[in-house]
Amino acid sequence: MITLKEALKLSKEELAELKKDLAAKIEENSEINAYIDVKDFGDGVPIAIKDNIQVKEWEITCASKILQGYIAPYNATVIDRMLEKGLSPFGRTNMDEFAMGSSTETSFYGKTLNPKDKNRVPGGSSGGSAAAVAAGLAVAALGSDTGGSIRQPAAFCGCVGMKPTYGRVSRFGLAAYSSSLDQIGPMTQNVEDAAILYDIISGHDPKDSTSASMVYSPVASNLNPDRKLKIAVIEKYVKDASEEVQKAYRKAIDALKKEGHEIVSCELMDAKYDISAYYIVATAEASTNLSRYDGVRYGFREKADSLRKMYFKTRSEGFGEEVKRRILLGTFVLSSGYYDAYYLKAQKVRHLIKDEYAKVFEDADLILSPVAPTPAFEFGSKKDPLEMYLSDVYTIGVNLAGLPAISIPVDETEEGLPVGLQLIGNHFEEQTLFDGALSLERALG
Ligand code: GLN
Repeated sequence: MITLKEALKLSKEELAELKKDLAAKIEENSEINAYIDVKDFGDGVPIAIKDNIQVKEWEITCASKILQGYIAPYNATVIDRMLEKGLSPFGRTNMDEFAMGSSTETSFYGKTLNPKDKNRVPGGSSGGSAAAVAAGLAVAALGSDTGGSIRQPAAFCGCVGMKPTYGRVSRFGLAAYSSSLDQIGPMTQNVEDAAILYDIISGHDPKDSTSASMVYSPVASNLNPDRKLKIAVIEKYVKDASEEVQKAYRKAIDALKKEGHEIVSCELMDAKYDISAYYIVATAEASTNLSRYDGVRYGFREKADSLRKMYFKTRSEGFGEEVKRRILLGTFVLSSGYYDAYYLKAQKVRHLIKDEYAKVFEDADLILSPVAPTPAFEFGSKKDPLEMYLSDVYTIGVNLAGLPAISIPVDETEEGLPVGLQLIGNHFEEQTLFDGALSLERALG
């Protein structure tokens, strides 16, 4: 598939040709189920959009039954910015329902297959976007990352996925899952494309009160893979990962050393605390954010003879099992008598995690870390929800701390499964992050 950088140079006629080919290829590969819907939404370079980002006058479903038939009344800010820069939405990609999951198995529209091995998950929750890019069914895509949902599917499918610093990209028009953690970011074929798309969607937006109001300096035009950086590794994280991930890790370290970077070792507290804090904060915020889907204003509604029953039936029927589990969990941790013990405690732990990362960045420019403990796992292999949550162990600390990170394909297993690793940067140090990522990509060939 043509890269985003190249596609931006195409004439109108060539773009039309590209879109025709793309539509045919998506149709041919419909078994992968990367898209919920395909439609050409403008004259620009076609970009796949995760189905929790609003495109005006198009359905937005978050892969949930409860939003079926709901038409977005306005564009997300990222969509407006894309349209201004010659990019346009071309399809809505599949995902875990409301972005809650790590495998894209919870979509109301059926699972997405990993293009590298159809018995395995593409990762999640942005599994459709990752599969589309990796299978050559998209030039580039947008995903969202609350606890790893861009980076982990990118690592499982073999593409690049980048999560910006919290506040860097507007969340206006992104269906909220956990508002203090959510960020939209690019999923692309290579690092440079990620930088290009990141530049297009970034910068202050008065419509998002958590958007950072600082001057934005573009990264793509300033990429410098020759900068020598100090890169920290977290020994403990690596020891706990599978042999395949450890092998990729050694490969990345060798490559980085060859590029002239200095590798230092760092410690972070046990990542089990990240999991506990995340699944309290995220579910608490989700329970609040999802209370709006009551059958009155959005999409699906069950008929009933009283308002109360209508709420009950709509939410019981409209939400899938995992979403309901999280609403219940979140409601519980916020309920009176438990708030201090769970939610407040989790917020304190979140601060400690943030402080620990800050300490590492006093000395290092970047951190190299696994994205997931294993390569893509088989469908149905994580039936226990807790087991699924544990697969997020290396990604969610970044969201709790609000840091930027990028997942890059580093290695392949004997069976041909991609293994991605992530570089993590300090707040708003995306330039350093992309420079390091480009250097790693170059070294890996
Ligand atoms: N797997 C994590 C969760 O289920 C992260 C999802 C995401 O980043 N949207 O919450």
